[in-house]
Amino acid sequence: MMFIFVAAGLLVGSFLNVVLTRLETEESFVSGRSRCDSCRETIRWYDNIPVLSHIVLRGKCRYCGVAISRRHLIMELSTAAMFALAGAVFPAASTLSTALGLIFVLGMIGVLAVVFVHDLMHMEIPVSVLVFGIVWTVVSLFLIWISASPAEPFFSSRLWEGIIGGAIAFLLFYSLVFFSDETWMGMGDAWLALILGLALGWKLLLPALTLAFGSGAVVGIVLIVLGRKGLQSRIPFGPFLAGSVIVMLIFGTIIGNAFGYFLI
Ligand SMILES: [Zn+2]
Repeated sequence: MMFIFVAAGLLVGSFLNVVLTRLETEESFVSGRSRCDSCRETIRWYDNIPVLSHIVLRGKCRYCGVAISRRHLIMELSTAAMFALAGAVFPAASTLSTALGLIFVLGMIGVLAVVFVHDLMHMEIPVSVLVFGIVWTVVSLFLIWISASPAEPFFSSRLWEGIIGGAIAFLLFYSLVFFSDETWMGMGDAWLALILGLALGWKLLLPALTLAFGSGAVVGIVLIVLGRKGLQSRIPFGPFLAGSVIVMLIFGTIIGNAFGYFLI
């Protein structure tokens, strides 16, 4: 069973690399095969096998020999690790709504991994990814709610808790953006906070934001102490929000126990 999660994670991670590259080059998602970033040669399927091709080609393009960004390998391996963790932590998908819950979490891991890397590298969160994340969360929670048996009243559903959580988180971050004139946070962070609240529900809002701000502060201080960043330099906050949601989604069932609350 674990093998399936690892294999799915490698494939999804490989797909996320394609998404990240196309977001950077603003190529269309529907047309065209993967190409070498350097020589533009089409990459054949046998050179596009997650991890394995990287080892066989020793991290270089078959045609021009230019090194392939290590980000590709890191993305594949970390997605596989996160999928394996989610598979290990979640109860066996025995009912339709728990199966939908697991699919929801795996999809969110993919969305947030793209946000994490893109914001880290470019200090920007792509609007298309944010829109996809919002739609994915709302549709998933709606399907989980209508497939629950015995049926759940709407006002005690995860969807409703998500709407409340999303509204609170968005308003909080929107005011941070508004009052700081976009110097502390950007609008991308506010939309990401909406996804955070939607996905986790208001009951996990406090631990999730504590984790995001706490880890952001620790990393910020470490970077300043190491002399990598000055007091005035900007550190993107999206990776901390995205990372916090991933941790909460995977370990929320365990963390939730402390709050008397189960994610799914
Ligand atoms: Zn090449």
